[in-house]
Amino acid sequence: MSRYDLEDSDLAELLVGEPSYRLKQLHDGLYQKFSEVDELSVFPRALRERLSLRTELDSALEIVTELSADDGKTVKWLFRLHDSSEIETVLMHYRDYSTVCISSQAGCAMACTFCATGHGGYTRQLTTGEIVEQVVFAARRSRESGRRLDHVVFMGMGEPFANFDRVWRAVERIVNDLGLASRHVTLSTVGLVPQILLLADKPFQVNLAVSLHAANNELRTSLVPINRRYPLEVLVPALEHYFARTHRRISFEWALIAGVNDSSPDAIELASIARQLRAHVNLIPLNPIQTDAPFSMEGSSPERVEEFADELRELGVNTTVRRTRGRSIDAACGQLAARTPIQIGRRAPKGSK
Ligand code: SF4
Repeated sequence: MSRYDLEDSDLAELLVGEPSYRLKQLHDGLYQKFSEVDELSVFPRALRERLSLRTELDSALEIVTELSADDGKTVKWLFRLHDSSEIETVLMHYRDYSTVCISSQAGCAMACTFCATGHGGYTRQLTTGEIVEQVVFAARRSRESGRRLDHVVFMGMGEPFANFDRVWRAVERIVNDLGLASRHVTLSTVGLVPQILLLADKPFQVNLAVSLHAANNELRTSLVPINRRYPLEVLVPALEHYFARTHRRISFEWALIAGVNDSSPDAIELASIARQLRAHVNLIPLNPIQTDAPFSMEGSSPERVEEFADELRELGVNTTVRRTRGRSIDAACGQLAARTPIQIGRRAPKGSK
């Protein structure tokens, strides 16, 4: 549990006997100022001390490790939760904006072949508050370095759509309480069709990124095993429905693996589906990971990545080659949970200043 799991009615109960305006002050302190209770200077000292004793208001995130790369523009945290589950969160500062990549589950049950998280197995669902608190933590860190956090991507550990209700509640908090634009929130999925259909009916619009990685069933099932349950002939119509309902452009994520999914026929298959859905394609050079399992896949060469991108463009597909961030600290796509952490035992955000 996290203090960001508490509803306003729960916060009001903690403030029994106080003037009613204290609730708004506490809410603003948590969601606008990203404060610890003992930093709420608008509260009298006695109230701060009383609230500081309430374990419901403790941070849920204990920092185990903090690693930075790219001249400090990429920071990855390994957090331990109250039950010793561990998750990772990555903050990336670009020239014009800052993005946090957050986890939605501890571990992941989807077992994608090329993914470090998938090799580690599944531990549990995160609560809404544990998801939101990662964003708050990154927003506070961004502000401390003179930046403003403005984008959230659910591309850390876990399959967000396998924890759909809590993830959606977290999206509502991120938009309504933290004030980020819904169009700056991206949900990714390996293709859980029932939840794609649910998302199509949600009231405000976020971005949908589908981890495709292969555009024929045989190859896709070998890379993304959930394809057995939701093969392309089921997934593609669901995405058509989503696009028809929302008019939101879908993006396809495609991790390029040398000799596996980076040939010209692969590009033709992908282009056919992408054009049908008017989808954008993000190419991700496969990142190296450390696992105990025999793992022989290698990322495509930079030259092949560019050629593949050009082939897609010539076939009429909007294509971007994703800039790889944080490779040296295993913070790049598919690398989360790739290393055993070194313990340094700090609690966030108090210990992070
Ligand atoms: S790629 Fe995503 S869905 Fe697949 S195993 Fe990794 S975290 Fe899970």
